[in-house]
Amino acid sequence: MAGCLLTLIDRIIHKSEILTIDGESYRIKEASERAAQKQALRKKKKSTKKMNRISPETLRALRNQLPIEEVICLRLAIPNKFRDSFLRFLCPLCGEFNTAVNPKTNLARCFLCAKNFNPIDLVIAVRRCAFLDAVNFLQNPAPHQRYSIAP
Ligand SMILES: [Zn+2]
Repeated sequence: MAGCLLTLIDRIIHKSEILTIDGESYRIKEASERAAQKQALRKKKKSTKKMNRISPETLRALRNQLPIEEVICLRLAIPNKFRDSFLRFLCPLCGEFNTAVNPKTNLARCFLCAKNFNPIDLVIAVRRCAFLDAVNFLQNPAPHQRYSIAP
């Protein structure tokens, strides 16, 4: 059987001209195209990672320039009231109004919990979300939730 096949091949080759095909092998071409595609995808991933990173300036602005009163009353709509000329809010941890807001430091304090909240802390406590979600929440308010320009 094998001998038969050899004879057959021999006869075909004998009667035919052998052509050498110049040019790029399509396998090599496809492989390099695939490699290029992979690399492009990797680059894209890297750039979206970069976009997710939040600059220290943005974090500072969210903590210091976004009024804590706005975060309490508008962004989070935490129950609140004015008493003795201080804005008091319902503490998300203990559920009491034993609180005050200090516009100078832009912090909200619960005296019972002995805890200060900056805007990001407050979002995390109220929404029980992760840090990045809190930052995202503060950066992209719904139209009715903003009265100052978000940093
Ligand atoms: Zn509390």
